[in-house]
Amino acid sequence: MTPLYEGKAKRMWTTGNPDTLRMEFKDDATAFDGKKKAVFESKGRLNCAISTLIYGLLDKEGVPTHFVRQIDETNVEVKKVEILMVEVIVRNLAAGNFTRRTGIPEGTPFTQPVVEFSYKSDEHGDPLINEDYIREMGLATPAELAHLRESALKVNGLLGAFFARCGLKLVDFKLEFGRLAKDPSQIVLADEISPDGCRLWDLKTGEKMDKDRFRRDLGNVMEAYGEVLKRVKQQLA
Ligand code: 5GP
Repeated sequence: MTPLYEGKAKRMWTTGNPDTLRMEFKDDATAFDGKKKAVFESKGRLNCAISTLIYGLLDKEGVPTHFVRQIDETNVEVKKVEILMVEVIVRNLAAGNFTRRTGIPEGTPFTQPVVEFSYKSDEHGDPLINEDYIREMGLATPAELAHLRESALKVNGLLGAFFARCGLKLVDFKLEFGRLAKDPSQIVLADEISPDGCRLWDLKTGEKMDKDRFRRDLGNVMEAYGEVLKRVKQQLA
């Protein structure tokens, strides 16, 4: 059987239900537009578990999402959506591309969260785009974009508070959204929420507990993901 779609970290499969898909978390890790590659045993399982718990929390808080249920250790069932080709990034502290673009030192806090958009296109290297680009490229309507921004800030508030209870600082993260196949007027949160797409720093030690350990060759990548899962589980118990 071939997947419907294979991305860098996940595969999408059909299910018996025309309205849902199976999302499989792979052990593959990539960074720098796929130029850096590795396989980490257990990454799929850890991200599947973390993402499932986070989606449960968001669902309880009334955030509409694609998530249906966890199927097994590395698979979840999700509602079929048309993914918007806009990635929404929320930043609470300077890091990563913000630091690279501005020279503002890593760890500098912001007075308010910074919301930015990038064009979800491997071919173009996920470039930073603004509202005018999004309108002219037809990626989302202005009303949809306003909704993305508002939802992303709501998720930031919820996840920032939750991770703080886990002893983790939510530095920044990337979200993806999709239009429900069944009713395209409804936009829901899609993709995974895991240390692959969030920067998380230990509140006490400042240690990086996310994919930057892989990007920067800091070692103990899966140990950090495992620690994030342990704290998330403990907090939700
Ligand atoms: P930056 O733009 O600083 O590289 O990333 C900001 C945040 O968004 C980081 O938490 C990073 O992990 C996440 N992010 C940005 N682009 C991607 C992407 O294409 N895939 C994943 N998994 N995360 C991303």
